[in-house]
Amino acid sequence: VKGNGKNNFSVFNESIEHQSFERRILENALRKGIKERQFYLEYQPKLNICTNEVIGMEALVRWKHPDLGTIPPMKFIPLAESTGLIVPLGEWVLRESCRQTKEWQDKGYGPLSVSVNISVRQLEEPNFIEQVHKILKETGLDPKWLEFEVTESIFADLKNTVSILQEVRKLGIQISVDDFGTGYSSLSYIKHLPIDTLKVDQSFVKDIHVNQESQAIVLAVLNLAKTIGLNVIAEGIELEEHVSRLSERGLLFGQGYYYSKPLRKEAFEEFVNNNAVV
Ligand code: C2E
Ligand code: CA
Ligand code: CA
Ligand code: CA
Repeated sequence: VKGNGKNNFSVFNESIEHQSFERRILENALRKGIKERQFYLEYQPKLNICTNEVIGMEALVRWKHPDLGTIPPMKFIPLAESTGLIVPLGEWVLRESCRQTKEWQDKGYGPLSVSVNISVRQLEEPNFIEQVHKILKETGLDPKWLEFEVTESIFADLKNTVSILQEVRKLGIQISVDDFGTGYSSLSYIKHLPIDTLKVDQSFVKDIHVNQESQAIVLAVLNLAKTIGLNVIAEGIELEEHVSRLSERGLLFGQGYYYSKPLRKEAFEEFVNNNAVV
């Protein structure tokens, strides 16, 4: 226990209590928010960076709190994960993503594929695969248009990662490794995993036009992917220079503010309409 002197000790204790008090308030608000459907999705376009054709979108959750306004995911996803509330929230995100994608396909927006972020906590649920299967059936989305984004940490955190990812793939869903390059997964590991795509983390894209190490890392990821037959997509593309550096190295797909920030339904529709392939 920490404590050089009684006062220090009690101050330390108080701040911990204070923290968990705030945490409980936020947790209750989150619980209520899920029940009262205070969430919505934004969609960030994914493009073929050579043709500028929209190939799909990443679904990103937003919390519109009645008093506090819009709360960004970094403020509540970690809490949702540690409390397990990510399970019902993530289920809603997945259902809504599938429903919306199917609607867009039926309306003739083209063969859009949707990427959904999935937390380890969700994959650990014993009935996860069953739930996913049910959502696909309910929404009628062909699973080949669905992709799960999982972070590298699942390879360390989840005991039966491989078998669960195999089950996911058996359903016909694609798997992408998010924030690739920021974790510690050994590269030899990658080839044994049931994955389809590596998503180069935005930290490597950010300074690719000025930093040789970032250039080298992106090139290494592209070579690795080519050798073992994986797709690569880059996130966080903000500048024309990012596009040229990436495309001259053979990267095909990307997303980022250069093309579009995440958009609400109507704005996404407009974006797709204005970026139709000629
Ligand atoms: P992520 O999966 O790495 O998502 C990419 C984040 O980068 C998004 O932030 C996106 O808005 C932002 N971004 C996109 N383009 C650019 C760019 O050009 N430059 C910069 N600087 N940033 C860009 P967002 O929407 O705030 O989401 C943050 C994180 O929250 C996500 O990171 C993801 O880990 C998590 N998250 C969001 N939605 C969900 C969800 O439905 N489920 C789960 N489990 N996690 C989610
Ligand atoms: Ca993601
Ligand atoms: Ca990412
Ligand atoms: Ca991230």
